[in-house]
Amino acid sequence: MPQPATRSHDDNAAALVMSRLDALARFSTDPDGLTRLYLTPEHRAAADQVAAWMREAGLAARIDGVGNVIGRYEGARPGLPALLLGSHIDTVRNAGKYDGCFGVIAAIAAISRLDAAGIRLNFAIEIIAFGDEEGVRFPVTLSGSRALAGTLDPAVLDATDENGVSLRAALAQFGSPGFEDPKRLAYRPGQALGYCELHIEQGPVLEAEDLPVGVVTAIAGAARHSVEVTGVAGHSGTVPMALRHDALCAASEMILAAERIARDTEELVATTGMIAARPGAVNVIAAGAKFSLDIRSASDAIRAQATRDIFAEFAAIAARRGTTVDIGKTYEAAAAPCARHLTDALEASVARHGIRPRRLPSGAGHDGLAMIALCPIAMLFVRCKGGISHNPAESITTADAGVAVDVLVDFLRHFDPEPAKG
Ligand SMILES: [Zn+2]
Repeated sequence: MPQPATRSHDDNAAALVMSRLDALARFSTDPDGLTRLYLTPEHRAAADQVAAWMREAGLAARIDGVGNVIGRYEGARPGLPALLLGSHIDTVRNAGKYDGCFGVIAAIAAISRLDAAGIRLNFAIEIIAFGDEEGVRFPVTLSGSRALAGTLDPAVLDATDENGVSLRAALAQFGSPGFEDPKRLAYRPGQALGYCELHIEQGPVLEAEDLPVGVVTAIAGAARHSVEVTGVAGHSGTVPMALRHDALCAASEMILAAERIARDTEELVATTGMIAARPGAVNVIAAGAKFSLDIRSASDAIRAQATRDIFAEFAAIAARRGTTVDIGKTYEAAAAPCARHLTDALEASVARHGIRPRRLPSGAGHDGLAMIALCPIAMLFVRCKGGISHNPAESITTADAGVAVDVLVDFLRHFDPEPAKG
């Protein structure tokens, strides 16, 4: 059944959000699509445009030493601690228009509405347009949010892109003052009341349940592994099946075992997206096989247990097939739970708009993973067509954009800056 009251109070504001997202998508390295990597000239142009829109909406805007655009909307008196809103304006290669940018443009629309109504709250609001969420250009990610949270390692300045350009040099080209001591970019304790991000869902749940928005419970923790199976090469015509130690067959069985365990575990996903066999010839039994394994869950405990189960199964499969298996962890990030008082408040705002509150985890990473070191975090997801993201086919409706802005405005108007510990 369609939800009642899912139309925005302000259709013009929703249309403006959509046209700005179209306009922002034109700042692209790729003339036929959208590619906007961290600290490129296109990123700078987009950052300047976002800063201009922030100023138009009544915020004081600046670009900080790591390329974040930060706009501040003072509260009832200057200098109050701030509730932080925002998302990222960098993209993957051949991206969609909504991942990241929506959260920035929608937040600007919300503040514009407060400003037009002459509303000043008993806290300040800052909108941040982060520049390095996707982590495509440099072998680092979340540089902007880590800097604001005070957890950025200065060694990232020496990271280089595929053309050998260092992050330090790229910051200079970007026109950012840069930094040697990232701690100086961080918020002071007590100055950040919380971080709330609007983002497209990047999954199919809200669409399947006919809901325009949903409240995020946690950003899933994730680990990536590189798994290497070693067997014995042999001639594909002469070695009988029973006498083989086929590394690729062992790897295949392991991948299916990981899939089975993930399917049987609530709130867990496991994915193999890469595999390679060696020597890699049509008539040679594989001596080696290497594959990736990405495991995610909103619960670190569930992920740890499932990882142990999967690796025990890998060892058993390897032994049974007379092969060996080596597992290396290449990346790990703990889950970032959203703060109860913020998710409850978002849920109340959703309910006040006549929408059934739906809580769901975020399987993808976001700047909240870094911001949680600074302050409590929350996220509101907006339905996206087919659950598709990181793809030019990414799509949201004007009506849903309007609902998300309405919910955000309502959330801001009800937000209690006194540490609402609950
Ligand atoms: Zn994103």
